[in-house]
Amino acid sequence: MTSAGFSQISPSIVAEFQSLVGADNVISGSAELLVYECDAYTLEKRPPQVVVLPRTTDEISAVLKVCRRENLPIIPRGAGTSLSGTVLAVTGGVLIALTRMTRILSVDVRNRRALVEAGCVNAWITNAVKSHGLYYAPDPSSQMACTIGGNIGTNSGGPHTLKYGVTTNHILGYELVLPDGEVLWLGTTPECGEDVRGLDLRGAAIGSEGMFGIVTRALVRLTPVPQAFKTLLGIFETVDDASQTVSEIIRSGLVPGALEMMDQLITQAVEKAYRFGFPTDAGAVLIVELDGLAPGLERQAALVMELCRANRAREVRVARDDIERLEIWKCRKRAFGAIGRLSPNFLTQDGVVPRSRLPEMMRFIQEVSRRVELRIPNVFHAGDGNLHPLILYDERDPDQVRRTLVASEEILNRCIELGGSVSGEHGIGIEKVDFMAKQFTEDDLEAMQVLRRAFDPELRCNPHKMFPGSKRCGDIPLRKQAAA
Ligand SMILES: Cc1cc2nc3c(=O)[nH]c(=O)nc-3n(C[C@H](O)[C@H](O)[C@H](O)COP(=O)(O)OP(=O)(O)OC[C@H]3O[C@@H](n4cnc5c(N)ncnc54)[C@H](O)[C@@H]3O)c2cc1C
Repeated sequence: MTSAGFSQISPSIVAEFQSLVGADNVISGSAELLVYECDAYTLEKRPPQVVVLPRTTDEISAVLKVCRRENLPIIPRGAGTSLSGTVLAVTGGVLIALTRMTRILSVDVRNRRALVEAGCVNAWITNAVKSHGLYYAPDPSSQMACTIGGNIGTNSGGPHTLKYGVTTNHILGYELVLPDGEVLWLGTTPECGEDVRGLDLRGAAIGSEGMFGIVTRALVRLTPVPQAFKTLLGIFETVDDASQTVSEIIRSGLVPGALEMMDQLITQAVEKAYRFGFPTDAGAVLIVELDGLAPGLERQAALVMELCRANRAREVRVARDDIERLEIWKCRKRAFGAIGRLSPNFLTQDGVVPRSRLPEMMRFIQEVSRRVELRIPNVFHAGDGNLHPLILYDERDPDQVRRTLVASEEILNRCIELGGSVSGEHGIGIEKVDFMAKQFTEDDLEAMQVLRRAFDPELRCNPHKMFPGSKRCGDIPLRKQAAA
């Protein structure tokens, strides 16, 4: 037994997995397992004991039945782009990666939906249906890599979810393999209309961070591409003026498709990396995208310009054509990638505040940055009040790691104090477990655990995530090592 009450994986179990899915689809060598030692939250690392890469729902069901018989923890994984340690194998276990189940199984243009395997990469859906004037709306900045299964696991958002909603608004139904190997379908099936017969449990596993079982196929909603776009760049001397503008755009009643902010450090890094022509001396840049029927857009754009200027915007530019618009989005979505030019490591935070509190929250982040003596650039979904302060550090310096954790804690605590939340879209994972008890009452947490136990009575599926002091989890040694 492991310290958390799970069993160890023996060579005979590895051989049994190989017989179920093929030897090429099982990884158990220590060097290869290092690939899976963390996700995009790199502060804590530990490899699983074995990785299984199934190709079908039946294979997953057979593997999970062995895991149940042997009392082994299971960790579902998509592309591993999670930013909060949601796929960390805290005490080892069987990591089940969906990266060999990537097909788009069918596209139903008339009913505007597609059936995809869970390992299908988000952006591939839009690529497959754009010739029909359709797209898959949730657009996490990681959409060139992240999978639909992972999007369901974290209920992902993205720049355009301000107007179009997050993953849960675009998943009509999905197939789920429970931790005991049973296969069920939640929500609308591919054969039926959009109504759900009986209890609508579709939402239950969306955002459950892989704790309710393994999603194998999903029926996704397709959305018509808007008739026209107008994309504006508001250029400001200060973050404060840009934040105030965000608040006022929302108050005006406009619902932009996207409303994103980049501060000076990020803008400089992005400009150095991609050379779009962003002003590197500006305090902050707002990207405001309006979309919909062409006739209404000029009036909306005029209002956005007026609000930017009323808040001392130095300049407001409008994307000249579709090429320039797409270039702006390419830069924005690759912003995290440009951080390598600033620092060897960074921790991405994901707090939320009411939009009206954005200006004071941004001032607070600047104050924390000065206090802990670490740079904290910001690029985020301003229209949702969903912040992404990126705390820059060097993991080789233990004192920088300690100060990173201090900054992170102070920022998230302030989000709660301001009436917000510690996660907008990246999930709780292992990173924010300790904040759950600050944000929810004991009764709230127990109600969530009751639902979890209905799917996974043995709490073997993605243990150690989201819930503080989960009985089967024991202590989490990794964070203590990092913070020591
Ligand atoms: C550069 C960058 C930019 C990002 N931008 C955004 C953004 O704009 N918006 C946003 O929301 N997120 C963003 N993220 C975070 C991340 O990409 C998302 O959380 C994404 O949904 C994770 O997908 P994945 O396939 O990588 O899943 P993983 O990281 O592998 O897993 C994420 C969670 O889902 C569970 N899971 C994965 N597959 C399954 C399955 N088949 N069945 C059940 N559970 C499963 C896992 O157990 C885990 O809990 C970003 C990350 C990076 C690195």
